[in-house]
Amino acid sequence: MINIVGYARESTLDQAHNGFNMADQVRRITKFCKLEYGDQEYNLTIKKEEGCSGKNLERPEIQKILEQMERHEIDIIVVYCLDRLTRSLKDLNELLIKFDSCSVSLVSLSNNIDTSNPMGRFFVNIIVLIAQWELDTLKDRTLRGIEESARQGNYSKGMVPIGYHRRDDDHHQLEIVPEEAKIVRYIFTEIAADRESNYTIAKKFREQNVLNKAWVESTVGALVKNKLYYGCFEFLGVNKPEFIEPIVTREIWDKANEINNSKKYDRHPYLYRNKCYCTGCQKQLLQVSTLKKKSGKVYLYYKCPECKRTISEKAITDLADDSFNMMVKATYCNAELASLQNKYRRTSSELNRLVYDSVHNVVNHQYAKKEADRMKEELSNLRLQINDIGENTSRQYFIGLNYESQQKIIEEKVERIDVTFIGKNVTVKYYEEFEKLLEGGKKNEKEL
Ligand SMILES: [Zn+2]
Repeated sequence: MINIVGYARESTLDQAHNGFNMADQVRRITKFCKLEYGDQEYNLTIKKEEGCSGKNLERPEIQKILEQMERHEIDIIVVYCLDRLTRSLKDLNELLIKFDSCSVSLVSLSNNIDTSNPMGRFFVNIIVLIAQWELDTLKDRTLRGIEESARQGNYSKGMVPIGYHRRDDDHHQLEIVPEEAKIVRYIFTEIAADRESNYTIAKKFREQNVLNKAWVESTVGALVKNKLYYGCFEFLGVNKPEFIEPIVTREIWDKANEINNSKKYDRHPYLYRNKCYCTGCQKQLLQVSTLKKKSGKVYLYYKCPECKRTISEKAITDLADDSFNMMVKATYCNAELASLQNKYRRTSSELNRLVYDSVHNVVNHQYAKKEADRMKEELSNLRLQINDIGENTSRQYFIGLNYESQQKIIEEKVERIDVTFIGKNVTVKYYEEFEKLLEGGKKNEKEL
């Protein structure tokens, strides 16, 4: 029997808004549970909180939920949207930790989050979600504040783009960093003159370790799109020209953007651009796309210029799936795995010492037995967690990532993909340091 608690909240302010009313939240939660857990036995209780704001956790129903969790009476908590649970980032963070320690999974319908799924639990995803959630709340709440602040010449974004930094005496003001501005000007000049592309610049910068940053094609693409470089501040629909000392002129900014927008290959996001080779002809494959007029859908292919054979992007993804999953796992899980394994080793050596001490009558037997039982349980828990990482994360993980993350992995880590057309087969070769990472991942798993 799965014990599910749905939590719905409606503040006095929400009652004026639509979309967040109590009945709607209850309906969605109930429907979701029926769809998701309908084939199992479950027990759904809905806790309704009316007229309470989400600014802190001083709410009767939330407090009851927390107590129930401590007693392990809840398996899953379902909310319509994270901000129903809390509007405070700090509280959200605390709740997530608490849920984790009480083995409670959290499902948020509108944010598409399910922490019972190993993917959902990962630190990385949580961070992304928190950032997203924070931005959404910010958008709602403080648009006017930002507008006012920008009018006074304050820079209210969190991230400061390359080329600028915050002034020491006033953190709301930016100033140019000359050596970084030089890099920015170089990018704009090269692209505006059509000498280099986002891709070639990123590749070169990565090789030369420019500014110690992980350059990928999309980094350069996004940089070129940033209006701040010609002095214009744009945030959440606020547009303020002549906001700051520009790094490039409006003319060169326009030219670079015109060129980037006109490039055919930039319109289609090929995942494996310039990475694929034909094993028969040793030629680099070209990117070709076809547009199905009826559906308006674009299909991406890779074509050998010599033997003219083609393979679809989807086919490459399918064929290389295992390899990519391993890389994803190595990238995201190794740290977690290593820490669990460390804990495992520590606990088992403690256990050994305890047994030794007990045998030699150094410690009280009764105490030793109790402690040993506790440690054994901890060890079996740790082993479960370790197996969990080992098994579950390889499951189609790569295709579960969003496009940007996939692109980042391919561009940063994959050196080449060799495609054998006859018998359809691909071999992925990673850059040396990442091949080592993969080896490390495999070894880690074998060790226990
Ligand atoms: Zn060929």
